[in-house]
Amino acid sequence: MIQELIEIVGRENFTDQLEELVPYSYDASMNVHRPDAAVWPESTEQVSAIVKFANEHHIAVVPRGAGTSLSGGVVPIRGGIIIDLSKMNRILEISIEDRFARVQAGVVCDGLNRELGKSGFIFPPDPASSSVATIGGNVATNAGGIKGAKYGTTRDYVLGLEVVLPTGEVMRTGSYTMKCVSGYDLARLFIGAEGTLGVITEVTLKINPVPRHAMTAVATYARLEDAGKAISQTMTSGILPSVMEIMDKVTLKSIRENTDIDLPEAEAMILAETDGFTWEEVEAQMEVILAILGKNGPVEIKTARDEKDRLNLWRARKSAYATLARVSSSFTLDDVTVPISRIPELLVGIQEISKKYDIVVATFGHAGDGNLHPQILFDEYDADQVERMKKVEEEIFRLAIGLKGTLSGEHGIGLSKAAYMTLEHDPVEMALMRLIKKTLDPNNIMNPGKRALD
Ligand SMILES: Cc1cc2nc3c(=O)[nH]c(=O)nc-3n(C[C@H](O)[C@H](O)[C@H](O)COP(=O)(O)OP(=O)(O)OC[C@H]3O[C@@H](n4cnc5c(N)ncnc54)[C@H](O)[C@@H]3O)c2cc1C
Repeated sequence: MIQELIEIVGRENFTDQLEELVPYSYDASMNVHRPDAAVWPESTEQVSAIVKFANEHHIAVVPRGAGTSLSGGVVPIRGGIIIDLSKMNRILEISIEDRFARVQAGVVCDGLNRELGKSGFIFPPDPASSSVATIGGNVATNAGGIKGAKYGTTRDYVLGLEVVLPTGEVMRTGSYTMKCVSGYDLARLFIGAEGTLGVITEVTLKINPVPRHAMTAVATYARLEDAGKAISQTMTSGILPSVMEIMDKVTLKSIRENTDIDLPEAEAMILAETDGFTWEEVEAQMEVILAILGKNGPVEIKTARDEKDRLNLWRARKSAYATLARVSSSFTLDDVTVPISRIPELLVGIQEISKKYDIVVATFGHAGDGNLHPQILFDEYDADQVERMKKVEEEIFRLAIGLKGTLSGEHGIGLSKAAYMTLEHDPVEMALMRLIKKTLDPNNIMNPGKRALD
């Protein structure tokens, strides 16, 4: 079998060496399992041959981009072959006239935006991991980011896909046009499928012009509920901020103590941004937001003085995950999402659950689209804390679903949330999802063990 794989990809693109497989046992979650082999294909034909081979021998395959999954999505829990797409990293076509970019799955998100930026265009979804995360990974997880409230998620930009199906067949679906209703929308089935239905090898993305101006403001609050109210009022004010982020007290403290960024002591901080084609447009929108932030009892409101100040505030938000990881190296990061008006209840509810189980939960996230990231900090060597952490996580999931929300807004289900799928999806829907999986992948080779599908 090793020989057959080497014949497909070449000796230099195959490994079964322990020291090379260990890194493939991990992603950015706390799940761990080692694969049996890893390959670095360089073309769709090679991916097709690998998958066909795996299907014939009933071997698990796990497509992998940069491995930044926060849900265990890329951890090969049943062993098998990791298909690392990082060598399929070519931008194949940029058409400004037709507003699309066609790329191989291993292209890094920021790399694509650097190229598009030369023509004043952008692929807007911007996960905080964009400096390493791949477009294939973005599509497979339907990645979002800080600009989701205004610009949506990856799904809103996918025009077409090339996918290697579990049989090894290559399917092209979608179009190069801004609109398309020809046939079932099969691309959508693969967007957010976390590699359970096929390997995405090529993506055609809609691109947007880069907004010319942006303005950033911060407001701090002594009460979490007030911050929550300011967010939901802003989102119903008729203004669509390009960013509406929140960081709670624990997050602010960890950034203050682990970086040189000067942040205030407060129960919560909101970071808001407006963008547009002219300054007048940007300022007019910001005026409305500042008025709303002001009437909800802030401790302080500030607008960024200049571009340096603005980027500094961004640095603070982008360092939240990393600085919290310094406070506690064991953590679970969730991404529950609720309808925007329920944000205040979610914020307060998370705080109450944290107190009830005496486990620290730091909350930050994309409040403008109802997506919060409670980062549950605990000691993995303390059995009692692990037990309490699990209860905290389950109660947060139940709270979000009770508020008409979802388990995951952008990180996916993977392994970490698989046990909770039935909290959100009824038996009829679960059965249909399993039927789709079984129909496309009867031998269950594509990223098995994920999402409670088998
Ligand atoms: C510090 C940090 C910040 C983050 N911030 C955000 C954020 O703001 N927003 C957000 O949405 N996510 C965020 N994430 C999560 C993660 O970066 C995204 O889910 C990202 O899209 C994953 O890309 P990747 O290339 O690393 O994919 P991987 O982690 O390698 O894979 C993720 C999943 O997609 C599948 N997959 C990967 N490539 C393919 C392919 N070509 N075909 C089929 N399936 C494939 C894998 O099997 C796996 O299930 C963050 C993660 C970290 C560590």
